[in-house]
Amino acid sequence: MKQTVPEIFGSKVFNQAEMKKRLPKDTYKELMKTIDEGKPLNIKIANAVSHAMKEWALEQGATHYTHWFQPMTGVTAEKHDSFIHPTDDGNVVMTFSGKELIKGEPDASSFPNGGLRATFEARGYTAWDPTSYAFIKDKVLCIPTAFCSYTGHALDKKTPLLRSMEAINKQALRILKLFGNEDAVSVKTTVGPEQEYFLVDEKFYEQRKDLIYTGRTLFGANSPKGQEMEDHYFGTIKSRVQEFMDDLNVELWKLGISAKTEHNEVAPAQHELAPVFSTTNIATDHNQLTMELMQRIAKKHGLVCLLHEKPFEGVNGSGKHNNWSLSTNTGINLLEPGDTPHDNAQFLLFLCAVIKAVDEHQDLLRLSVATAGNDHRLGANEAPPAIISIFLGDELTEVLEAIENDSGYDGKEKEYMRIGADVLPKFRKDSTDRNRTSPFAFTGNKFEFRMPGSNSSIAGCNIILNTVVADELEKFADVLEVAPDFESALNALIKDTIKNHKRIIFNGNGYDDSWIEEAEKRGLLNLKTTPDALPYFVKEENIALFEKQHVYSKEEIESRYEVLIEEYVKTINIEARTMLDMAKKEILPAVTSYSKSLADTILSKKSVCDSINTTYETENLKQTSDLLNEAFSAVHELEQAVNEMDSFESYEQKANFVKDVLLSKMDSLRKPCDSLEVIVDEQYWPFPTYGKLLFGIM
Ligand code: ADP
Ligand code: MG
Repeated sequence: MKQTVPEIFGSKVFNQAEMKKRLPKDTYKELMKTIDEGKPLNIKIANAVSHAMKEWALEQGATHYTHWFQPMTGVTAEKHDSFIHPTDDGNVVMTFSGKELIKGEPDASSFPNGGLRATFEARGYTAWDPTSYAFIKDKVLCIPTAFCSYTGHALDKKTPLLRSMEAINKQALRILKLFGNEDAVSVKTTVGPEQEYFLVDEKFYEQRKDLIYTGRTLFGANSPKGQEMEDHYFGTIKSRVQEFMDDLNVELWKLGISAKTEHNEVAPAQHELAPVFSTTNIATDHNQLTMELMQRIAKKHGLVCLLHEKPFEGVNGSGKHNNWSLSTNTGINLLEPGDTPHDNAQFLLFLCAVIKAVDEHQDLLRLSVATAGNDHRLGANEAPPAIISIFLGDELTEVLEAIENDSGYDGKEKEYMRIGADVLPKFRKDSTDRNRTSPFAFTGNKFEFRMPGSNSSIAGCNIILNTVVADELEKFADVLEVAPDFESALNALIKDTIKNHKRIIFNGNGYDDSWIEEAEKRGLLNLKTTPDALPYFVKEENIALFEKQHVYSKEEIESRYEVLIEEYVKTINIEARTMLDMAKKEILPAVTSYSKSLADTILSKKSVCDSINTTYETENLKQTSDLLNEAFSAVHELEQAVNEMDSFESYEQKANFVKDVLLSKMDSLRKPCDSLEVIVDEQYWPFPTYGKLLFGIM
């Protein structure tokens, strides 16, 4: 019997409906209260919940459980324990206690910890985040958890994310109170991440060591056709891809993930999936699961899902658009311009907090998306530049200008925009979100942060966003709470903010070279690479900010900085070694064989007739040999650079060496090899070309 979507949806999730059905009324009520108020779970409730959860999981065919968590690097981690408990009579019972639900102790000493645990305690513990439902994946009951050391340091991404949500909740509520809103008891940030990805045929993938080891192509000339026709964007979806998407949707729905839209992207073989937005920590869990399922389900269809930010040179990379807003538990979106002057004043204040936060903390936002892979993307063909700016659209910008200058916002009615007295003009929705070149765009009722790379956890950028906006809201609330006249203080605050931070607003084309010059004049940061950006994390004022907002301690920041910089160096080191391997064992030998076939042909032709024309073979042989020689010396130089990198002690030194030396040596090797690819007989070329990878799914 075929199930309907509502029947499928959430069927593998121990969600609210399931809890209500299975828990005693009082326990259920108490659990909901702890969830709403974010209080720790007491053991009595935990015992009842764990029992119900286990019964449900066993009915679903689960045999194991795991505390599912997100370590500091971009993956998720799980260690499976079975429910089995031996009894005296040699049998087993299936048990799962409240204690086991609340707390786990993974022996996770090999997870990257940036030195945090080594000095204190080798083990950490995981604690259930009851706001994110448990779910079943592959017969395993997964319990979304936070991961901490015994000294209380966060070893994961979830803990700081929850802390940052608490920070913004606290400050946003203060602001709402000032506007007379007493109903709201919580404000949560909401996120809808649009996920881009590539699909390639598994049989081609398997022949490319670069894709296998690094997730991106390290060699590859452009195919005769690329994305120039733009015929892939929103094009009809190939049936094999459609089958994959259908399968993926069903599996996501079972996990309660509201996969909503799917379409082809600009680049050939590139696609996108967007869910309906949800609370940030849940959206983060769901996005991690989505990435995992994409990869797993692709395999079932003989495909491989590439989540790398830039798998192919010369075609668009993949990003993850982080649509972000704030809303109250009563369902009010605080970034939605309202219909009354009062609502609009509140909207403008939240808007100003975001503008100020983004301007003052460009460094943090930039570094929240800094990875080796994303460095190829930011500033390239489709992605936004590495410079942070805000797109507001002409209409909203005009309103802000009018406020700043005490002038009319509408050319016709030269009227003042009096905050708290006038209604904002209605913006046409579609005029607000059509600028695709902005890294941070207001899209009518939310901001879309377009810089995150396709494979990164959205926890990273949302921790930063929540924290910096919370901090501005706090400063605003501090001023307004003690103001003798709220209205005029509010006016002054909004005006000042616009005046002092308008440099961050840019509605033009972010891909244009002139913007880079203009941004420099405005004094905006342009942190081009990961090693340029990461050191800002440990700047004194940034540490102070995170400590003030109780999001990260100094030690936690330092550990993350270390993990990130290490990851950067290790990633490119693997890439460099993979290039050497492919060049030495595959490309150079293939070209040698091809050269030999040319030389043999010349000799055998000449043996038939001395005066025979061998121009094609000879010229080709010369060109091939020159490029082969160039590639050979590039191999040698890259090898030396890789060895030299090993000699540096600190990861900072290594990272700078990567940026200044290693990357260009890699380029120097790629160039002659790609030139060879287009002249060498196809039969000799050792791995599938871009043409097959990008157009090979039939
Ligand atoms: P586009 O491609 O035009 O950017 P999409 O519809 O693909 O638009 O994606 C928009 C995303 O923004 C969706 O995931 C949607 O759920 C999300 N979104 C909508 N409203 C909000 C909101 N208030 N907070 C967070 N995300 C939102
Ligand atoms: Mg979008």
